Amino acid sequence: MTKVVCPGSFDPVTNGHLDIIERSARLFDEVVVAVLVNQNKQGLFTIPERLDLLDRATAHLPNVTTDSFTGLLVDFCTTHEVDAIVKGLRAVTDFDYELQMAQMNGSLTEVDTVFIPTSPEYSFLASSLVKEVAKHGGDVSALIPGFVNDELTRKYA
Ligand code: ADP
Repeated sequence: MTKVVCPGSFDPVTNGHLDIIERSARLFDEVVVAVLVNQNKQGLFTIPERLDLLDRATAHLPNVTTDSFTGLLVDFCTTHEVDAIVKGLRAVTDFDYELQMAQMNGSLTEVDTVFIPTSPEYSFLASSLVKEVAKHGGDVSALIPGFVNDELTRKYA
């Protein structure tokens, strides 16, 4: 049994995230999508709201569960007996940072990191950009699940 974690802010979940989660669910036995609780950054959606949207977005994937964590990801991995961390890579800029993180996490514990390349249609997609466009009334409905779009519209109403 291989258990992996897909960590992130998911503020809110996008189709780019879902692509990585769905592909992880095909590759590994168990996938935990873990929302990082960042005490220094409030975000647009609360942690329970992000988890609720993730639960709804992954309801069709029986081997995917959601959770949240504070502190070090490697500690979450140890506590939950996670075998590997899965990260999506969009661009070279992602790679620089993610390689450094992967090596740091690897030096702290035995946990390895697996990179999954973004699907080309999502390579420009980030939650921050989706929020920026939605905030100014732009149409992001093709980039996020319908119910996420509804909640986003409500937030900026
Ligand atoms: P964002 O940059 O959208 O705020 P997060 O911090 O929530 O994303 O990232 C969680 C994980 O999802 C990271 O591994 C990130 O690289 C990955 N990810 C986010 N958007 C995409 C995308 N469009 N394609 C592939 N991976 C992505």
